Amino acid sequence: AKEGGRNRFARFERQMDIAARERRDLEMDLRNALQNGEFELHFQPLINIETGQTTSFEALVRWNHPERGIVMPDDFIGIAEDTGLITELGEWIIRHACHLASNWPSHMRVSVNLSPVQMRSTGLVATIFSAIANAGLDPSRLELEITENVLLHDSEANIAILHQLHEFGVRIALDDFGTGYSSLNYLRSFPFDKIKIDRCFVTDLADSEDCKAIVRAVTELAGSLGMTTTAEGVELESQLEELKVQGCTEAQGFLFSRPERPDQFTDLRGTGLDA
Ligand code: C2E
Ligand code: CA
Ligand code: CA
Ligand code: CA
Repeated sequence: AKEGGRNRFARFERQMDIAARERRDLEMDLRNALQNGEFELHFQPLINIETGQTTSFEALVRWNHPERGIVMPDDFIGIAEDTGLITELGEWIIRHACHLASNWPSHMRVSVNLSPVQMRSTGLVATIFSAIANAGLDPSRLELEITENVLLHDSEANIAILHQLHEFGVRIALDDFGTGYSSLNYLRSFPFDKIKIDRCFVTDLADSEDCKAIVRAVTELAGSLGMTTTAEGVELESQLEELKVQGCTEAQGFLFSRPERPDQFTDLRGTGLDA
C-alpha cells in the first residue's frame, strides 16, 4: 500500500523518538556500568608477517550489559565521548590493559586505543605513567593507537602530549591510516612508530591494482620514515600473501583470530588473570 507523506513523516518521527530514547537509556546505564564492573577487554593478536610470531595484542573494549548482553564499542564509545564518561572509562581501559600485559610473556606488547576526547582531558600523561608504574610494565610494551582526528584538532597540544609519552618509551601507532582528511605533513611532527593501514585497503587487495599500489606506497613511505606497518582486517590467505609481497610488517584480522578474552589464547593462558 502506498503511504502518504504525512504518514511516512509520523513514522520517521516515531523512529527518531525510539533512537533518542535508546540513546538516553544507554547513557544512563553507562553512568553506572564502570562501578558495576560491566566492561571487559577482549584482545586480538598482531602477527609479524615474516616470522609468524604474535608481537602484540590489541585491547578492544566490550560492555557486558545486564539486560542487553554484549554491547560493541561502536554503539557506546560515541556516547561515552559526548558525555565525558570516556575519560573515566579510558583510564580503566589503560590501567586494566597494563595490568594484564604485565603478566604476559615479556616480548608481547599491548595496544590500547585512545579517543581524541580522552586526549583533551588533563592528566592523561600522568594517568598513563602511573598505570605503567603500578603494573611494573616496561613502557615500550605499551602501544597507544590514535586516529587522524587527533591530528586535526588541538594538534599543538597533542604533539606535546605524544612526544612526552614517546620520550618515556611508550610506542605510538597511527590507526585507520588513509581514512581521514589530514595531510601527510603531520607524519613529520608526530612521533609515530607504526602506521596501521585501514581495512578498506586490505579487503580488495588480491584483486585491485589500486589497493596494491596504495599499500606498497604506504609501506615504502613508512619504511623510509623509520616506521613499521600493520595491515588491519586481514581475512584471507590471498591478502596475507599480497601483504608479504608489498613488504608490510604485521597483519591483524579474522584470518588469525577474532578478538577474544585473554584466556582463549594459548600464549596468554595461565597468566593468572582473566578479562
Ligand atoms: P579499530 O581500533 O579500528 O579496531 C578494529 C576493529 O575491527 C575491531 O572492531 C575489530 O573487531 C575489527 N576487526 C578486526 N579484524 C577484523 C577482520 O578481519 N574483519 C573485520 N570485518 N573486522 C575486523 P570493534 O572491536 O567492534 O571496535 C570498533 C572500534 O571501536 C575500534 O576500531 C575503535 O575505534 C573503537 N574501540 C574499540 N575498543 C576501544 C577502546 O578500548 N577505546 C577506544 N577509545 N575505542 C575503542
Ligand atoms: Ca585500533
Ligand atoms: Ca583501525
Ligand atoms: Ca576503525
